Amino acid sequence: MKDHTSVRVRFAPSPTGPLHMGGVRTALYNYLFAKKAGGHFILLIEDTDQKRFVAGAENYIMESLKWCGITWDEGPDKGGPAGPYRQSERKDIYSQYVRQLVDKGHAYYAFDTPGDLDDMRKRLEKEKKGNPQYDSQTRMEMKNSLTMPAAEVKQMLNDGVPYAVRLKTPENEEVVVDDLIRGKVRVHSNLLDDKVLFKSDGMPTYHLANVVDDHLMNITHVIRGEEWLPSAPLHVLLYRYLGWEQRMPAFAHLPLLLKPDGHGKLSKRDGDRLGFPVFPVAWKDPSSGETASGYREAGYFPEAFVNMLALLGWNPGTEQELFSMTELVKGFSIDRVSKAGARFDPEKAKWFNHQYLQNKSIEEIAAQFSILLKEKGYHPPEDKLLTITSLVRERASFISELWDQASYFFEPPEGYDEKFARKKWKNTTPAILLQLSEKLATTEPFLRDAIDDALQSFMDDTNTGAGALMPALRLALVGAGRGPDVKAIMEVLGKEEVTRRIKAATEKIVV
Ligand code: GLU
Repeated sequence: MKDHTSVRVRFAPSPTGPLHMGGVRTALYNYLFAKKAGGHFILLIEDTDQKRFVAGAENYIMESLKWCGITWDEGPDKGGPAGPYRQSERKDIYSQYVRQLVDKGHAYYAFDTPGDLDDMRKRLEKEKKGNPQYDSQTRMEMKNSLTMPAAEVKQMLNDGVPYAVRLKTPENEEVVVDDLIRGKVRVHSNLLDDKVLFKSDGMPTYHLANVVDDHLMNITHVIRGEEWLPSAPLHVLLYRYLGWEQRMPAFAHLPLLLKPDGHGKLSKRDGDRLGFPVFPVAWKDPSSGETASGYREAGYFPEAFVNMLALLGWNPGTEQELFSMTELVKGFSIDRVSKAGARFDPEKAKWFNHQYLQNKSIEEIAAQFSILLKEKGYHPPEDKLLTITSLVRERASFISELWDQASYFFEPPEGYDEKFARKKWKNTTPAILLQLSEKLATTEPFLRDAIDDALQSFMDDTNTGAGALMPALRLALVGAGRGPDVKAIMEVLGKEEVTRRIKAATEKIVV
C-alpha cells in the first residue's frame, strides 16, 4: 500500500436499497477512469448508517455491477490489500483518528440532546439569524467541550452520557475544493456546519469514514455524484486536520441525471411512474414486497445500457455513439465530462438496444430468441431459427419483440387485420389465391427463387397485377399487412403450410 503513484478509485455505495442508474453511472466512470489509467477500481460498502441498512442491498449492488460488466479489483467479496471493504468491519479503525482530531483541537465532544438542538433551531429561527445550524457562530452557546469545564466533560464521558464528536470548522476562512470537472469551488467557512464525525455508539459518520478510508486505501481520485459537492469542503478540512493534505485525492463531482423533461433530478421514484426502469436490475423491496422494474428484466442488453449511461454526462468529442466497453475505456476522460446535468431520454435508451440487437451476431440473437421460443413450446431447427431471426430482427429493439414480429412463423393467424383486409381483399381475391395455390403445388424446390418465378408467371398468365395479389397473399399468411418479403415468408412456412393458410383465409375473411 506504499505505492501512491498508480490510480486507485473507489465506488462507495450505501446498502440502503437498490442502486439507481445514476449510481451505476458513477461506478462506470470510476471503472473507466481506473482501467484507462491501468489502475485499480475498488468497491467499498458504506454501511455505517445501520438504521438505513436494507437486507439484500449489498448483493443487489454487486449483482447489478456484474451484469453491467463493471468488475472491481478489490472489494468485500474479493478482499485485497486495503481491506476490510465494508465500513462496519472497519469500526475499530476510526476512533484513533477521532481522538487525534479532538486532541489537536479540531473536533470537540457535544452533549446536546435532540431537544437541545431543536430549541437552538427554534430560537435562531425566531431571531432570524440566517441558517440555523450548529456551527462556528452558534457552538459557544451549546453544551460541548468548548463551553463546559474539562472536569465536567471528563465526568460525563466516564458516566457514559451519549455524545457526538463534531468538527470545529474554522472561522472566516475560504475553503477551496479543486474539482476536476468544476474547477476551484470556494466556500466561506462560516457557512459550514460543525458536522458530526463520530457517535458514542462507536460508529463514525459518513464524513469521517470516507476520508479515513480513502486515505488508508490510497485513493487517488474521488469520483462521485454532485450531491456530495456541498460536503467536499468539510472533507478538505478533514484531510488538512488529519495531516493528510499532501496526499488528498483529486475530486470530480459528476453532473446529475435529469428527468426526461429536463426538470429536476431523476429520482428513484420516477421510473415506474414515468414508464421506464431507473434500476439496472429489478428490485423487490423486502419490507413492502413491491417490485421496481430493472433494465435487465425489461430486456436490455447490458452493453446497450452501459453505452447509453456512458454518454449521459460524458461526450467523446466525435459523432460516434456506439462504444464497446473496451472503446469506452480507451476514449474516456474526465475532461470531457460536463458540468451541466444530463437529461435521460428513455427513447434513446431503446435506440441503443435496437442498435445492439442489429449489430450482434445473428447466432447470439437467435440463441437468446430460442430461449423464448422454448418457453412457448417451439423448437425450430437451427437453420430455420437463424433464417427467421435474420428476417425479422431489423423490426425489433428487444428479444421479446422478435416474437411479436415472428409469431406467424410458428402459429397460423388467429384473425386478420380488418382495416388492411377492407383495403386489399376483394370479392375476386379468394378465387385468385386458390388458383395460385394450385400453381404452388407444382413449384419445386419450394425456395425463394422458384417461388418468385411461380408468382411472376402466375401474374403474367392470369393477368393479375402485383397489387391485387401480393398484399392479399401476405394477409392470408401473416394475418396482417406487415412482415418481411412474402417470398421469404413462404419459403420458411413451406408449401403445405402456405396452402393451408391460403385455404383458411379464403374461408374466414369476409369483407
Ligand atoms: N455512500 C455514498 C453514496 O451512497 C458515497 C459518497 C462518496 O462517494 O463519497 O453515494
